[in-house]
This record gives sequence, C-alpha cells and structure tokens, in this order.
Amino acid sequence: MFKDHVIDKISEEFGAPSRKTVKVTALDIGSNFGVVVQTDQPNKDDYAFVWLQYPPDSESLPEIALEYAEESGRHSNTYPSPGLEQGKPALKIIVTCAEELADLISYTHAIMSFKAPPEFKANSSPDSDPESITEDILIRVDVSSMPKPQPIKPCREVIPRAVQREVWQRDGGRCVECNSNAKLCFDHIVPFSKGGSNTVRNLQLLCERCNLLKGNRI
Ligand SMILES: [Zn+2]
Repeated sequence: MFKDHVIDKISEEFGAPSRKTVKVTALDIGSNFGVVVQTDQPNKDDYAFVWLQYPPDSESLPEIALEYAEESGRHSNTYPSPGLEQGKPALKIIVTCAEELADLISYTHAIMSFKAPPEFKANSSPDSDPESITEDILIRVDVSSMPKPQPIKPCREVIPRAVQREVWQRDGGRCVECNSNAKLCFDHIVPFSKGGSNTVRNLQLLCERCNLLKGNRI
C-alpha cells in the first residue's frame, strides 16, 4: 500500500510514529508540529492522505494542499497531534507519487524550522495514458478548467474553491446519480435552507436533471 510507504518514509525522516490507531498514524515532531497519515482512507493502493497543520499567516499555502476549516474532514484521532488540535484549520495533502512525498518532507522541514517553505505542487507529469483512466482513479483536476458550478437555486454562501475541488475530485467530475458530465452543479445533500453546510461531506455533484428530480422528491 502506498500509504504504508508514506508512513515509512516520513518515519525515517522524523522518527517513529507516536500513535497508531485503525484510522491514523500520527507523528509528533518536536513539541509543536504533528503529521498525521490517514490509514482508513483512501481504499485505493496508489495514494495517501496526509494532514498537516495550517502554516503561519506569513506563509502562503502549498499549491497541492486542500484547506479544511475547523473539524471538517478530520477524525477525532487527529486532534491529539500538535498543531492539529480540535477546532484548528488544517491542510490535507493527497500524495500520489514519490516526488510529492519528497516535497512534503522538504515542506515540513522548512515550516518546522521557520524557513520559507519550498514550492509544493501536485506533480503534473502524466504517468498513465488517458485510455487507462477509469472512474476508480483519483482524477487530477485542473481547477482553471473546471466548469463553473451552476446551482439551480442561487447559493446563499459561496462554496470555498478548495471544497469544490475536492468534491469534484471525489465524484470524478460526474453526476453521482446518473454519471452524466453535462450541466453539473454542486448539490447540498442536506439543503442549505435546512442547515446543511458548505462542507465536502455535505456536497455532491449532480446534473441539472437529477437535481430537479431530487427537488421534486423532497
Ligand atoms: Zn444526473
């Protein structure tokens, strides 16, 4: 499993994990920096989810990172890690290859020693031919080419770009009901009017038709 490899490499670099549960392997690096590798997800072999603390205000976010406010997307098992305490924002990195793992290690070293972090981008060199891509593979999204969400009812609050990107990736750029990739919109599973939030968990991609059907059902 790629996530085991990620845990091995990070441990080689920063020392043995301080905590292992079914859901996470956590490394406390010094007294104020934690790295958490998720072990219950993904269910696939070829990538890993790594959680890092939000960088200091003065540093820009790594381009590869997905931002999570407060508790969203995280296990309670993550919270005992330094820098990733309950209620704090965090970064989730989807590590898909050795280059990204090396960049993650360099980035972590820099942040820990209060140096300017190096560039940390998703590795964009395509390593598989388009023919072999199936829905089961994490789809790399070029955010600039993402179609604009076209909510049928206007959203009262803007869905953060990073959340849009993750929902888009998770749902493979297709309607979760009928697999269509036409006229997609970000649908709130629990409607906004009923207190549903703009979190990854509460959003899904639906096509216009399925969205209308859902609207009629409720
Ligand atoms: Zn549909």
